[in-house]
Amino acid sequence: MPNIKTFLTYALIAVSLLVIGLFTYHNITDEKKHEHYKPLEAHNSCLALNYHRIRSGTLYERTLKLMSNSNELNRYNVFKDDFEAQLKWMTAHGATFVSEQQLEESYKTQRFPAGCVWLSFDDGDETTYTNALPILKKYHVPATVFVIAGQVGNKDFNNIKLATWTELRKMKDSGLITFGSHTYNMHELLDNKPIFNKVPAAEFKADLLKSKATLKKELGIDAKSFAYPYGNANDKTMNVVEQAGFDYAYILAPHAITTDNYRSLLNRIMVDDETFERQVKEWKGFKT
Ligand SMILES: [Zn+2]
Repeated sequence: MPNIKTFLTYALIAVSLLVIGLFTYHNITDEKKHEHYKPLEAHNSCLALNYHRIRSGTLYERTLKLMSNSNELNRYNVFKDDFEAQLKWMTAHGATFVSEQQLEESYKTQRFPAGCVWLSFDDGDETTYTNALPILKKYHVPATVFVIAGQVGNKDFNNIKLATWTELRKMKDSGLITFGSHTYNMHELLDNKPIFNKVPAAEFKADLLKSKATLKKELGIDAKSFAYPYGNANDKTMNVVEQAGFDYAYILAPHAITTDNYRSLLNRIMVDDETFERQVKEWKGFKT
């Protein structure tokens, strides 16, 4: 029978782990902003949902999430069971899950299928492979992963473990996953601004072309689309993305994609638990 000493030892270990966890997440933490949710455009539109991490949701992770206001655990993460529940809910409410190619064809012909939903994952971290892919397979839902081509396989990219090329190839072989660029190596901030907003246009363009060439070499694909790291673009960065030959580029904005949404500034909604409950579920494109 465990005695009080054993119990105290375990309690001490648990508290230490929590403290270590809180410090680990500290440098990618800032205050969670409660957004005011506006209704999403529902007529002839498509919901582009963007995810980052799909963490396992262990008791430890869930406790950390509750105890900290870590953006990494709250904003940039949906736990795997919750992700599955989201897919189930959308399926039950008439979602038509489309691939990026189907989305683009609908955009060109200016007719989106009823309940159009497209999923994307930014960064291509390991949880996309270990946790999201099995669920996507289970429900036959296609998705696009935007890869930081020069960082693939990095075990510590700002505390995030990125998937390897082997894992990305397995995702591709599933037949459900396509890929786009998330820069070669410009997913970082300089003076609190995305670095690609600060460097000369030629430098950004060279990075983008390198990301395309690397995706071609490693995955055998022609990347046609780009997701802006941090979700914003200005005219200068948008022009460079177009000059680098991307047909479509995605920002993060709380709107559905409509036919008049410009091709290099297409809206994606960043999903967390709260956004899903308060905004996505309210979309009139879903059946009640
Ligand atoms: Zn990113």
